[in-house]
Amino acid sequence: MIIDIHVHAFGEETAKAVLDGMDAAGIDKCCLFAPAPETDELSKRWAMREATDWLARIAAEAPDRILPFCWIEPTLPGAVQELEYAIADKGFAGVKMIANHWYPCDETVFPVYEKAGELNAPIIFHSGILYFHGDSSRFNRPVFWEPLLHFPKVRFALAHISWPWVDECLALYGRFRALNSEGREHPHQMWIDTTPGTPPAWREDALRKTLSFAGDEYILWGSDSVGTGIHEHGVDVLRSDRQLLHQQLGAPAETERRWLGENALRFLGLV
Ligand SMILES: [Zn+2]
Repeated sequence: MIIDIHVHAFGEETAKAVLDGMDAAGIDKCCLFAPAPETDELSKRWAMREATDWLARIAAEAPDRILPFCWIEPTLPGAVQELEYAIADKGFAGVKMIANHWYPCDETVFPVYEKAGELNAPIIFHSGILYFHGDSSRFNRPVFWEPLLHFPKVRFALAHISWPWVDECLALYGRFRALNSEGREHPHQMWIDTTPGTPPAWREDALRKTLSFAGDEYILWGSDSVGTGIHEHGVDVLRSDRQLLHQQLGAPAETERRWLGENALRFLGLV
């Protein structure tokens, strides 16, 4: 079972193009993110509702394979309602967010966390440098997500191992892991989305540190493909990551199974 946890859509994709790419790469399921809402400078100005409805139509063509993630911009009015609409009414698998002009520790976005926990919806946050969103990297330092420990029902992943702040991401992972030993009744909160963002020169080091410190049970694999490009980018990332895992890191087959798919099933609440 191979699950690509991190695929972007821009509103031009068809279900067939996404599925053809997945087949070419040998990917069983992918988490497909809705087009970014209003504040994004890269895509057309989608409203959250419009993006959710568009993606719902794509995912409905292959509900076992295309797992839709709504993109919630928590500073927009109606964000909590749009989250509820996507998860509760449309059956979306999770939530994607990019903190490109707000701090994840800002209390104004807490109602969205509260609702995600209530709905048991996993959140994937971008974390790490942002190359395309103005001067927004300061919002994406991993420790700014520490307040999520006050939302114990929220399951979340920080994407890209927060590169270049990999050490800080892992330290935060350690912070959340420590909560588990305090005897809380809620399950493990923080997961690490290892989707590149780490350039090749850093990738081996980042994955080695991740496996060494965080183990292999809460790491997720993703390609950061666009929906129309999985047959190229998804294939490349999968091939090079597997090679790295076996040849440089000498990890066992069990780690590969967990990283590439089994963990994602748990993160998504599918098992
Ligand atoms: Zn991405």
